[in-house]
This record gives sequence, structure tokens and C-alpha cells, in this order.
Amino acid sequence: MAYTGSCQCGAVTFTVEAELPGEAISCNCSHCRRKGLLLTFVPAEAFRLDTGDDTLATHRFNTRRIAHRFCTACGCQPFAEGVGPDGRDTRAINLRCVPAADLDALTLRSFDGASL
Ligand SMILES: [Zn+2]
Repeated sequence: MAYTGSCQCGAVTFTVEAELPGEAISCNCSHCRRKGLLLTFVPAEAFRLDTGDDTLATHRFNTRRIAHRFCTACGCQPFAEGVGPDGRDTRAINLRCVPAADLDALTLRSFDGASL
């Protein structure tokens, strides 16, 4: 099973080899709260950028360990790149950029990124 996502203008498209999750992380850090990101995490191998590599820019802050990728045409952030607590290359998917995700049905898990 797999699901697909995109930025708003459609320049950036991606595929995730995983089932759609039933829950999402809502983080209160200075970055996530402003963008309203609803995140799910997958191993990098499960993520494929289909189009838009040349349209993406990268924002880093604080420890600069996470590459927040956003579309320079429409401003959406479909995903981020980083390394998980287990040391594995990880992708954070913004479920708001996944049309098949039923956002109202997601169980939201709060993450206190503001206190890190
Ligand atoms: Zn776009």
C-alpha cells in the first residue's frame, strides 16, 4: 500500500510506501505551530520524491538537524528530512499535504517541541 501527497501548486509530488496512519503528531515548537504541521514519520526508504526537487528550498533552525523542505512556488511544506532517535534516516510527512488523509479522523498526539 502507498499514498501520495503534493504541495498546493502541484510542483512537488511524492509517494510514501506505507499505510495511511490513524494518528499524527502536532508539535508546539516555533516552527510547527506557525505552519500547522500534522506529522507522521516514515523511514527514508519508504519515501520517494516524484517531482519538484528543483522547486524545493530548505529551512533549518535551532540545531539545524532537520531539513524542512518547502515549495518555493506556493510555500507549502510537504515534508522534512532528518535522523530519528534510532539513528535512521527519517522523513516527516505533513499529512495536510496528503489529500487522502482524513484530517478530522486523525488522533492528534501532542509533542512539546517548544520545551526542547
Ligand atoms: Zn508548490
